[in-house]
Amino acid sequence: MATQHDSPTQIHVVQLYPRDMNIYGDFGNALSVQRQLEWQGYEPVMHTYDPGDTFPKTVDIIVGGGGQDSGQGIVQDDLLGIAPRLHDLADAGVPMLMICGLYQMFGKFFRTIDGTTITGIGVLDVETIGKPERLIGNIVTHSDEFGDIIGYENHSGQTFLGTDAVPLGTVMQGEGNNTTDTTEGARSRNVIGSYLHGSLLPKNPALTTFLINAALHNRGLDPVGAGALSAAGQAAAAFARNAREVAKKRP
Ligand code: GLN
Repeated sequence: MATQHDSPTQIHVVQLYPRDMNIYGDFGNALSVQRQLEWQGYEPVMHTYDPGDTFPKTVDIIVGGGGQDSGQGIVQDDLLGIAPRLHDLADAGVPMLMICGLYQMFGKFFRTIDGTTITGIGVLDVETIGKPERLIGNIVTHSDEFGDIIGYENHSGQTFLGTDAVPLGTVMQGEGNNTTDTTEGARSRNVIGSYLHGSLLPKNPALTTFLINAALHNRGLDPVGAGALSAAGQAAAAFARNAREVAKKRP
């Protein structure tokens, strides 16, 4: 859990494996959290964590991105090594956002298309099986909590939720977790997994607000106001409405 803050306004943000797990602009999620914290008067302390690094002592928010199957193989052993810490942080309510490749690895396992099993850390109750068909394209989902969520997906792994995970959203356009149900992403405590690149957070500020407010709550600080990100939120909502209209016109 977060422990050693030098000042009450410091918020420590950790980006997991930016060297190997950072495709389709997933770094934008770290930037989005950083900028929004600055705009709200907080002092973000940004950490990157790559294999072999010392895991930061003080952690308020963790973000992680997607990657090739090969990149997932590279970080697998290191991720298993820090799994106890990540479980403790998740149990303590630390907000985390994991995209695509790291979403799969926060689940139980990813059996790739070539039959390799990448072992996950089981923070999320999901399992992923690689299929010959890649699921690629723009995607629009809806969540009762966050509203419309938009992004871009490109994955061979198809993810299936266990009983302890709830979907992040319902797919309205695109594929999401798999081709057999309409779920997208998964959520457990304050940990969110999603297939959506984009980057996700700049396009979906309600999710940025969620991560920041969960971190502030853990520190006993007041949440940022609902309207705090309203300009960006309105732009994202308009974009999502447009994407839905376009989707309706497709055959
Ligand atoms: N390599 C994984 C897959 O293809 C994840 C891809 C990604 O992160 N976009 O399913």
